[in-house]
Amino acid sequence: MATGIDEFDLIRSCFARLSSGEPGALDLRDDAAWLRPEAGMELVVSADAIVAGVHFPDTIDPADIARRALRVNLSDIAAKGARPRAYTLSLVLPQTVGLDWVEAFAASLGDEQREFGVTLLGGDTTGTPGPLTININIFGEISENSMITRSGASAGEDVYVSGSIGDAMLGLAVLKGDLTVENGDDRAFLERRFLRPDPRVTTGPALVGVASAAADVSDGLVADLGHICSASNLAARVDLEAVPLSETARGTVTDDQPLRINLLTGGDDYEIVFTAPVSARDSIELISSETDVAISRIGIMTEKTSGAPEVVVLDGSGNPVEVGVGGFRHFEEENAR
Ligand code: ADP
Ligand code: MG
Repeated sequence: MATGIDEFDLIRSCFARLSSGEPGALDLRDDAAWLRPEAGMELVVSADAIVAGVHFPDTIDPADIARRALRVNLSDIAAKGARPRAYTLSLVLPQTVGLDWVEAFAASLGDEQREFGVTLLGGDTTGTPGPLTININIFGEISENSMITRSGASAGEDVYVSGSIGDAMLGLAVLKGDLTVENGDDRAFLERRFLRPDPRVTTGPALVGVASAAADVSDGLVADLGHICSASNLAARVDLEAVPLSETARGTVTDDQPLRINLLTGGDDYEIVFTAPVSARDSIELISSETDVAISRIGIMTEKTSGAPEVVVLDGSGNPVEVGVGGFRHFEEENAR
């Protein structure tokens, strides 16, 4: 944070108003906040930090960073079937960040709060010689004992995914200058899918009692379905042709089969991958139309076979395609953004 900015002034001028409506936030004037779930409900808690140069290019503006920071967290809560309620915010700011930046960041958070019905509970603000880092802890609510875990899948169940897969990966490539997309509308669509994920905040809660297991797609469809497989002690088969691509993504990858497969491992989709028994097919169609989010059946859960990968992707002729390890992994130099 630039020298001369007082942390407490900053909290008063930018953040205190974002806490109104949550009595336990105590106007951001105490050491801690309290949060009481409604009767019969329990809290679902998650945290996601985003780091400049790792999770987003350091050229993107504060309003977009704020959206992304909150939405990646909303996505975790949605994937568990919970409704988001409140969050804390830890800001780790380099010298280059001044008051204008923080004001724009906080204004954008205010818009997001109104859209998603969440309130700021508290946080921390500190400077760093390192990169800009934003950590959000989010608190959602759900009826007791109904959080959708990763471990509830059974063999023979269907695998589904919401929305479309791969747009964000293409959008990031466009933002980084690694991919050229001629059409301006297509370019804007892809960039927007990276910068402003659409956390499935109504679809997720509608899946409670219907989905047997779920995960949010942040590391890539193959990796996140792999998490469900590991937790459920199963494997999965995915039909490449059934994986939903937006019209723009389809037009962009055309016949480039390797690029098309990469969309399944690219990550940053913030969709929900989930499993459900065959008997739930009609309910899932209804949830899709009622929440106005596409839901595609993309495969099936199977027993594990030793030596085979957890997630097998089959092409149109039923042959397995090479998808690599799958998913964005940290601590691998070549993945640094
Ligand atoms: P501590 O001294 O324990 O670090 P602070 O004095 O930093 O606590 O925080 C004072 C109050 O301001 C607390 O209520 C804290 O939750 C709030 N706060 C600090 N930074 C932020 C932030 N970035 N967003 C929201 N609340 C914040
Ligand atoms: Mg502090």
